[in-house]
Amino acid sequence: VSLSGASVGDLLLLVADRAPSATFGEEELALLQAFAGQAGVAIENQRLHENLQHANALLKEYDRLKSEFVAMVAHDFRKPLTAIRGFAELVLESPELSPDTRREFMGTIIRETDALASLAEDTLLISRIETGELGFEFAEVELGPVLLECMPLGLAEHSILLDMPPEPMRIVADAYRLRQVASNLIGNAVKYSPRGGTITVRGRFRGADHVSLEVQDQGLGIPKEELRRLFQKFQRVRTPGHLAIPGTGLGLYICRLIVQGHGGRVWVESEPGQGSTFGVLLPRDARKARASAST
Ligand code: ADP
Repeated sequence: VSLSGASVGDLLLLVADRAPSATFGEEELALLQAFAGQAGVAIENQRLHENLQHANALLKEYDRLKSEFVAMVAHDFRKPLTAIRGFAELVLESPELSPDTRREFMGTIIRETDALASLAEDTLLISRIETGELGFEFAEVELGPVLLECMPLGLAEHSILLDMPPEPMRIVADAYRLRQVASNLIGNAVKYSPRGGTITVRGRFRGADHVSLEVQDQGLGIPKEELRRLFQKFQRVRTPGHLAIPGTGLGLYICRLIVQGHGGRVWVESEPGQGSTFGVLLPRDARKARASAST
């Protein structure tokens, strides 16, 4: 049946009489109209009810994820706090400790305090990005010098190679947040290559509108089935080798949020025992990419 004026989602009530020539009288038409009106209201109510149920389920899921996040953060805070308290107590109550042991314990306290501070910072940053409070400050930046600033100093076991095209890679991005992404990926490459090796940081132009940044290492690598989850909150590779290295599983999630905030995407390729390559694809102009994505 085609009906002029009807649009997708409209419902049609079709009434017919078995007698071929019979017509409906005024009274029957009025009754049908009233019936159609009531049916329409009932159907609309049902639709609203379903929408509400859906919104309610989403809110419940959001609430559950939030509680889970708080529980995980609380758990990750407790570990360093316990260590700090334990070592401080030892230093306070053991006058017989040698100066060297005392220095070692104080070193642990400082390290754990730093870990706690960076966990607090990561947690705050995540909540600011997730609630949309974090604005990005886009400006023209040159990728090469930004990456140079992220190179860790004083590495004994690792060598780092910066592989960039000859011409300057100028893009529009938030330099501070970009540095955070690169430092995180390079820091991970060092951390998860306990036997050392070469780490290659590679910048490339990709077509007319994009650039890529890759960080390749020769470290532990990652089993295939673990790859998909890594850019989600609190996800860590569950092999004994990985778990022996301290971490919170927040860094890659933050990288993904920052890169997505630029209109880009992240990826990873890895082979257990052979190393990993973490990559970032960024639009050359994040401001334009964001503007065209929101229209
Ligand atoms: P963190 O290192 O604090 O645990 P990340 O979110 O940065 O958190 O990384 C998540 C997990 O991904 C790490 O716990 C580690 O298991 C794995 N991972 C990250 N980078 C590498 C890498 N370069 N090589 C092997 N595994 C890695």
